[in-house]
Amino acid sequence: MDCLFCKIAAGEIPSQKVYEDDVCLAFKDIDPQAPTHVLFIPKRHIASAAAVNPENSADVAHIFEKIGPVAEELGVAEDGFRVVSNIGEAAGQSVPHLHFHLLGGRELAWPPG
Ligand code: 5GP
Ligand code: ZN
Repeated sequence: MDCLFCKIAAGEIPSQKVYEDDVCLAFKDIDPQAPTHVLFIPKRHIASAAAVNPENSADVAHIFEKIGPVAEELGVAEDGFRVVSNIGEAAGQSVPHLHFHLLGGRELAWPPG
């Protein structure tokens, strides 16, 4: 499949990895919107958070098990951070492979734009 994040997951396109195991990969966003901006992706292709189903939801649960420890390691856990996933055009999803943004290292406004 011609998918940017599948290629990053396969190592065909380089990324600055912060965490990796058999199921998921976390890497630095190429255009960071906060001092800490990391993307968590399942290695298996899932189109978006709206495409999570009983067959693939274990990958998502697995990712959420890793977010806390990685945030701790990156030094943003104590102050707080945000996890967000954009779905579809109106929300600004630009890569059609499920990813969770971890944003931290600054005050984050609410509601988001
Ligand atoms: P979305 O806009 O779909 O919510 O998030 C996609 C994110 O992927 C954006 O924040 C964008 O900066 C990031 N991104 C796009 N292409 C690449 C790339 O080739 N490498 C990395 N590390 N991040 C990318
Ligand atoms: Zn993909």
